[in-house]
Amino acid sequence: MHADTRVVHLRVPVPDSTPLSVPLYQTSSFAFDDPDPLADGLNRPDGPFVYSRFANPTVRALEETVAELEGGTAAIATGSGMGAVSLLLHSLLRAGDHVIAQHTLYGGTHAALRKLADRMNLTVTFVSGHDPEEVRDALTERTRILYLETVANPTGHVSDLPALAPIARRAGVTTVVDNTFATPLLCRPIEHGADVVLHSVTKFLGGHSDVTGGIAVFADDALHREVWAEAVEFGAVPDPFAAWLTLRGLQTLPLRIDRHKGNVARVAGFLAGHPAVERVLWTGSPDHPSHAIASAFVGGFAAPFCFDLAGGHEAGLRFQKGVRVIKLAPSLGGTQTLILHPASSSHRQLDADALRAASIGPGTIRIAVGIEHPDDLITDLDQALSAV
Ligand SMILES: *Cc1c(COP(=O)(O)O)cnc(C)c1O
Repeated sequence: MHADTRVVHLRVPVPDSTPLSVPLYQTSSFAFDDPDPLADGLNRPDGPFVYSRFANPTVRALEETVAELEGGTAAIATGSGMGAVSLLLHSLLRAGDHVIAQHTLYGGTHAALRKLADRMNLTVTFVSGHDPEEVRDALTERTRILYLETVANPTGHVSDLPALAPIARRAGVTTVVDNTFATPLLCRPIEHGADVVLHSVTKFLGGHSDVTGGIAVFADDALHREVWAEAVEFGAVPDPFAAWLTLRGLQTLPLRIDRHKGNVARVAGFLAGHPAVERVLWTGSPDHPSHAIASAFVGGFAAPFCFDLAGGHEAGLRFQKGVRVIKLAPSLGGTQTLILHPASSSHRQLDADALRAASIGPGTIRIAVGIEHPDDLITDLDQALSAV
C-alpha cells in the first residue's frame, strides 16, 4: 500500500467492528475476568491491553501506522519528541559508553546528551557526518550509539547515512536517526541502515500545532522489546487523546508534504533573488554543502531553512515585527508559516563566536514554510523585507 493510502486506512485494534475513525480509548486501565491475560499484558508489548502506560489501543494504532510508514517492525509512542530522545539514550547507554554524534544536533538533544555524559561518564565524539573515515576513526570498544539527524536544524546539514550506518552495524553500534525534518515520505532511514528512527510528532506528523508527542520506530523486534521494558518505567507515554490527534493529523501528511515542498521551493527561490537577503541556506539548492549527499537518499525538502538578512541584527529585529501573515513562533511542520530570529530569541545568550559556531549570523532568520497559498507568503515576505 502507498503511504497516502495507509495513513487514511487506519487499522482499529477492536475485534468484530470496523469504525472508520480510530476510537479514542481515554482510559488508564482495563478490567479482566481472569488474572492470566492481565499478567500477560504486563509482560510484553504486544499482549492484551491492561494499563495505558504499558499499551493503549489508540496509541497502538499510532505506533503501528508510523512503524509501517518507516518500514520498521514496531514503535513506541512518547509524550514528546524529547521523551523519545531521552528514552533511547537512557535505555541504550551504560556508564562509560561512547557515543558518536553529528555536530549539528537539535538543541534539546545536545543538552540531554551532554548532561547524561556528565552523570554517566560517557564520552561523545562529534563528527561532520560527511566523511566515513571520521566515523571509522572515532569507533572504540565502548561505542554504543551513532546518532544522526536526517536534515539538521538550522543549517540543513545532511549526514551521509547510507555510508555511515553500515560502518556502525559492522562494529555492533546502534544507529539512531532523528527523522523529524524529513518525515517517512521523504526519507526512510531504516532502508539505509538505521536501527531506530525518532520523531517529534509535534512537527510534521501531527502537523497542526495542536499536539506534543514523539515516537521511536525500531527496525528489529528484539531491540523494540528491550526498550519497551525500559519505556514502561521511564513513563514518558502519550495521553491517548494526543495519540488520537496525531492520527487525525497524520492522515493528510502526504498532501501536506507535497504542498510544503512546493511552497518551500517557491519561497527559497524568491528569497535568493531579493536584494535584502545576503544568503539562503537551503538543502534543496545545488550550492548547499549537503546537497549532493542529500539528493542521493532524501526525496525532497519540506523542512525549515535559514536565510541571512544583509542588514544584520537590526534588520532581523525589524523583519520579525514586519511580517503579517507569517507568525513569529517556535516549532515547524504545522499548517502555518513560522519565522524565528535565533540571535534575538532561541540563541540570544550566545556571543558572536558561539553564534558563528552554531552557523547563526546576526541577521539569520529561520523560516518553517506552511501550507498557505504561496503567493500570500511571497507578498508578505516582500513587504516585510522592504521594511528592513
Ligand atoms: C522539536 C524537535 C525535537 C523535540 O521534540 P518535542 O516534541 O519538542 O519534544 C527533537 N528533534 C527535532 C529534530 C525537533 O525538531
